[in-house]
Amino acid sequence: MTTAGANRGVISWASLLCILATVALMVVAMRFEGRIWWCECGEPDLWKSSVWTSHCSQHLLDPYSASHFSHGLLFWCFFAWITTGAVGRVTGLASRFPVRWRLVAAVLLAAAWEVAENSPWVIERYRTATMSLDYLGDSVINAVGDVLCCIAGFFTARAIGVRWTLLLFMAIELVMLATIRDNLTLNVIMLVWPIEAIKQWQTQGHEVAWAR
Ligand SMILES: [Zn+2]
Repeated sequence: MTTAGANRGVISWASLLCILATVALMVVAMRFEGRIWWCECGEPDLWKSSVWTSHCSQHLLDPYSASHFSHGLLFWCFFAWITTGAVGRVTGLASRFPVRWRLVAAVLLAAAWEVAENSPWVIERYRTATMSLDYLGDSVINAVGDVLCCIAGFFTARAIGVRWTLLLFMAIELVMLATIRDNLTLNVIMLVWPIEAIKQWQTQGHEVAWAR
């Protein structure tokens, strides 16, 4: 493959095949983990706006989709970081990691995250340590929606550049914090190092939402 060839096109048959195979493997793995295809309510809605109901993470999209969009933003920035400047020279990836394979890598990471997130160990940890009291894992359609959001984030970052992407990421974190008392940062903190005060504050949001 020539350098010119490496930089041409954001998709190729080979990379598209890898993406589809990755998503198919994710679906199979999630079914093995016991996840359902679609919300048990049976409503055909593709979007559910409330995070404090049993519909959350069971339809195609919900407010948490924004977090997965952010994954795509951050993956783009990470790949830009390891392929340019001094870091790019160290990794030697500068001209050998075209956009289409970065996209495959992003989808692989997103799908691996979905499978890990829906493993019995992580689900149990979410239920005991975080605000997700009734969390039973995502539905398969929600995981597919999450991967699509990650891809959308990836291409958004590609279009607007790293600087605007980081600003957009921070804006999404703040909006999520204000609206659903949860975001990617809190998600990671609560999974790795749960803090009781944050859990209390998030649970209060839960009660306020139910009281409405
Ligand atoms: Zn539902």
